[in-house]
Amino acid sequence: MTVAMRLAATASLPLMASTGLSRLDKAAEVLVAGVLVLDIADDIRLRLGEPTVTALAHRFGPEGRCLSCSGRFGVAPLSVRAYRDHVGIITLVAYHAGCAGSVWVDVGPETLPRQETWTAAVTSISLPLAVRRWLGRLRGPGVRDQLLPILLVHPSLEMTRVRQVGFGEAVNADMEGYSQAGFADAGALARTYPLRPAGRAWLQASRGAVLLHVRAAGRAWFAPIPRPAAVLATARGGILAGVICDRDPGRLATDTGHLEHAIAKGEVLLGWAPLPGGQDERREPGRLC
Ligand SMILES: [Zn+2]
Repeated sequence: MTVAMRLAATASLPLMASTGLSRLDKAAEVLVAGVLVLDIADDIRLRLGEPTVTALAHRFGPEGRCLSCSGRFGVAPLSVRAYRDHVGIITLVAYHAGCAGSVWVDVGPETLPRQETWTAAVTSISLPLAVRRWLGRLRGPGVRDQLLPILLVHPSLEMTRVRQVGFGEAVNADMEGYSQAGFADAGALARTYPLRPAGRAWLQASRGAVLLHVRAAGRAWFAPIPRPAAVLATARGGILAGVICDRDPGRLATDTGHLEHAIAKGEVLLGWAPLPGGQDERREPGRLC
């Protein structure tokens, strides 16, 4: 239930890069650790800090494409370039280590790479949601676990954005952007009734399967949805979109315990995406009759 999609494309070029391990060793390390091996210039490490640099190993994915040669990353070692725009957002872009070296570049926003590959998968998860009770003395707010379909998405496999908050310190600007677009952690969902839409969703029948589409934060994603989950989405009036910057949605969708742990740690930002007509209060999640 995973789909990866390459969106736009631009190109960028240059030179080289190398690290200490042999290519075979690096490939083995990738397969064992589930992360890509990155070459990152000391200049970038110093400016952004080790916590941010360490996190990058999980931000890029093998299905991402190199902006220099357009080939998939696979398990090849990568190098990371840092492009700082005029408002202080630093876009970190991965290339094959053999296609471009790791450097820090100050650029105008119009010159930043545009290519983004995403991957998404659908599962269902039970989360505590704010509810409004309507039965006699129970009238009033409450919280109750409800099962909802969730489209998990890693929105970019070859680039990520950070915001420098001091020398050697940076924060995840991608997640900040999704927060500003209406995504929130699970705690906010348990406190908010009714859920405020962060996007919209729709179902599409395609060649005997059903696809779940979501448009949110200026992006559009889709993935196959199992029929029981599609029925559940219709009953609930919508689905959750879960944005995660450093995990494989496909793996997460098949491991409920792992997903629940990631959500509890605030690593997944959640957004309610109603289906057409999903704002009908009679089937809105959270209302108990
Ligand atoms: Zn390349």
